[in-house]
Amino acid sequence: MLIQIDTKRSRPTAAPVATPVRQSHVFETTHGIHVLVVDGSRVYSIDEAIATELRGDPANAAHNLERFGLLDAEPPQISDEAPRSFAVRSLSLAVAQKCNLACTYCYAQEGSFGAEPRNMDRDAALAALDLLFRDATPGESVNLAFLGGEPLVNRELIRECTERAAAMGETRSIRVNFSITTNGTLIQPSDGEFFEKYGFGVTVSLDGVGEVHDKQRPLRGGQGSYARIIDRVRPLLAMQRRMQVSARVTVTPGNLRLRQTLDELLSLGFHSVGFSPMLHAPSGDGEMHERALGEMLEQMIDCGEELIRRTALGERYAFANLLTAVQQIHKGTHRPYPCGAGAGYFGVAADGDLHACHRFVEDPKAQFGDVWKGVDQEAQTRWLEQRHVHAQSPCSGCWARYLCGGGCHHEVMNRGRPACDYIRGWLDYSLKAYVRLQAVAPGTFG
Ligand code: SF4
Ligand code: SF4
Repeated sequence: MLIQIDTKRSRPTAAPVATPVRQSHVFETTHGIHVLVVDGSRVYSIDEAIATELRGDPANAAHNLERFGLLDAEPPQISDEAPRSFAVRSLSLAVAQKCNLACTYCYAQEGSFGAEPRNMDRDAALAALDLLFRDATPGESVNLAFLGGEPLVNRELIRECTERAAAMGETRSIRVNFSITTNGTLIQPSDGEFFEKYGFGVTVSLDGVGEVHDKQRPLRGGQGSYARIIDRVRPLLAMQRRMQVSARVTVTPGNLRLRQTLDELLSLGFHSVGFSPMLHAPSGDGEMHERALGEMLEQMIDCGEELIRRTALGERYAFANLLTAVQQIHKGTHRPYPCGAGAGYFGVAADGDLHACHRFVEDPKAQFGDVWKGVDQEAQTRWLEQRHVHAQSPCSGCWARYLCGGGCHHEVMNRGRPACDYIRGWLDYSLKAYVRLQAVAPGTFG
């Protein structure tokens, strides 16, 4: 929510609280000066006098926020204490730890995660469904995702699990959200009908258009995969009713023309298109460094400007990154973790082991028991304590900490935090875009 605040609401209080932690982030748009109050992720419009004080010494930040009525008297909304446990609400099944592509940067080492290529055991998949429903109560929802490798290598298991989970959900009045992330090369029209029937969110990995994609995502024999993917995805794009087919672009220094990619993929009929920088590859290939991240930010802003322009005209322009960011800002999203990995979400390996998420499959640093015994509570407590954003440096003092959550655990644990300027730059732009969208299309946020 965007709330108007001015100096007339200021009220003097006791001595300044000495803390170097950033408690606010001041930003400007053509609509005035604004501030994000970090605690609670609240956005206010402020006048120049307040802005000047808030821009001053961060040690006085909490005191100044309180003076201007911008800080609740309540204790901070996120404490240092990590939650003790979470109920399992989302599982992704690595139904096939193998793949028919040879992407240059693959985090899963051609789908096998460094182990023997294999399909998931049926017993493991069925036990995973039992775990997913174990603590869910009527009226709640759970999420079931299929990933790999390339999940469609093991289509039969996907179908069996989906039908079974849908039946379990119906019997127990629990909503099941299904999703699949696929390279698109094996899709058949009958898959589209199946996904449509169960209302799947289908994410197709596409790294650009034509040769740009082919360079990063070739078939095992070295041939390009773009034409084949589009050929196979087209019928699904035409079929979308309950199903939503989106494109996900992994950005490397080799495919930085994001605006062109976004426009072309949207014109094909994808429901939305999202971009994600390649920050860690086991081979190091395609990793983004400072200069490329700077260029990516410029391109993301260009895409964002087009979204604002089209929204003002009443048109839909599904640039997923900005749509998600502004919705989260509007809801006041503030979280001590970047995602649900190792909390309410786990990635299930082909042999039934539970890992923090789909990217940690086969990684002993992020293992949490298995689908039969359930979540290893000790391992989870340790993970939640260690991964809490207040326990991360330099995150604990960063103004973006509760919107960012400290960065993807997998990337941070394998490469560190090379993208903080990019993340803060993008969040700063998203905050400005939020204020501007409120002005041009107030209905956008319901
Ligand atoms: S990862 Fe970087 S941008 Fe995110 S909270 Fe940590 S320091 Fe801030
Ligand atoms: S750890 Fe990273 S890859 Fe895994 S769910 Fe979180 S953000 Fe996604």
